[in-house]
Amino acid sequence: MSRYTSQELMEMEHRYGAHNYHPLEVVISKAEGIWVEDPEGRRYIDMLSAYSAVNQGHRHPKIIKALKDQADLLTLTSRAFFNDRWPVFAKRLSEVTGKEMILPMNTGAEAVETAIKTMRKWGYLAKGVEKDKAEIIVFSENFHGRTTTIISFSVDPDAQENYGPFTPGFVVVPYDDVEAVERAVNKNTVGILVEPIQGEAGVVVPKEGFLKGLERIAKKNNVLLAVDEIQTGFCRTGKTFAFQHEGIDPDIIIMGKALGGGVFPVSAVAADKKILGVFQPGTHGSTFGGNPLGCAVALAAIDVLMEEKLADKAAELGAYFMEGIRKINSPKIKLVRGKGLLIGVVLNETAGKARIYTTALKEKGLLCKETHNWIIRFAPPLVITKEEIDLALGKIKEVLG
Ligand SMILES: *Cc1c(COP(=O)(O)O)cnc(C)c1O
Repeated sequence: MSRYTSQELMEMEHRYGAHNYHPLEVVISKAEGIWVEDPEGRRYIDMLSAYSAVNQGHRHPKIIKALKDQADLLTLTSRAFFNDRWPVFAKRLSEVTGKEMILPMNTGAEAVETAIKTMRKWGYLAKGVEKDKAEIIVFSENFHGRTTTIISFSVDPDAQENYGPFTPGFVVVPYDDVEAVERAVNKNTVGILVEPIQGEAGVVVPKEGFLKGLERIAKKNNVLLAVDEIQTGFCRTGKTFAFQHEGIDPDIIIMGKALGGGVFPVSAVAADKKILGVFQPGTHGSTFGGNPLGCAVALAAIDVLMEEKLADKAAELGAYFMEGIRKINSPKIKLVRGKGLLIGVVLNETAGKARIYTTALKEKGLLCKETHNWIIRFAPPLVITKEEIDLALGKIKEVLG
């Protein structure tokens, strides 16, 4: 039990913590599966899953066991030495992604940075692009993380304001517009960086054929296609990776979030040897990347996803959930979109701000988060049951109906 009340904790955070977030007014001090609990013992269904980092559910016993067992043996070596977990994790993730090599990092942004460096280095070494001329095509409304280079190509004013000067070498084109990509490609283009579904933008699902179009352009122009699967990956959308819905074979797969099983930050980039092989000792790295604790957790996190067939579950329950929200048939709801258990509910302007509803849902014991002012995202842990979705639908109907 926590020694402070929710009110005290929120005031303490407001006073001592930097205000770079605007959390819903709920304090979580305990969790299991899809359920979280506050210090006063109130229980809530988690419908955000830490932005899809908790796909396996909170404190999955198998993942917690892996964490504890590994903590008793070895936690950190740095890459100055070999350890006995990283090679096993690399082999497993290579099998899961179908790519020959893995580069391990910790957070999602670091994995995106790694992919950017990979594309640039490959561009200079393999494609022969002139020094410092490499260009990467990215998309409007993108979200790839918070580092200075990554926010250099954000179109969100809040993400950029007062953080300049920005890193050059990125060309922003409209999302879901293959022709715009075709027009933007030139001899200096080394890569295309894309989210298969834009989560932060409000669960924006591109038209079928978009990713296939990108793959075609990339192949034709000798450009690398990098998919950011940090939020969509690891079964969230009903397949292990969202790009599999279109049956494409991207050159670079960027992973994070659920790879850490909701307990530890683990991220990685996967690609074939002709691409990741551009790195030589000393040219890139991370003290914690490939640490034994993270690798043991990630191995268990992957096992849980596969053993419990969470991709199939997300596909089936996602369709059921989305249908259930549509059936509420509320004048407040403009449209419901998504794939698997990554669902965005777009509100009509007349409904007022999404925050009103996420606050009301919290009062009813359901936690979710608005993105922008008019979209609510529902993304529960994939271990949720049909009965629990019915329970959630009842609450959503009370608030949005
Ligand atoms: C969360 C996210 C990131 C950044 O991951 P961090 O671990 O927060 O750095 C990058 N890309 C996408 C698509 C994400 O959803």
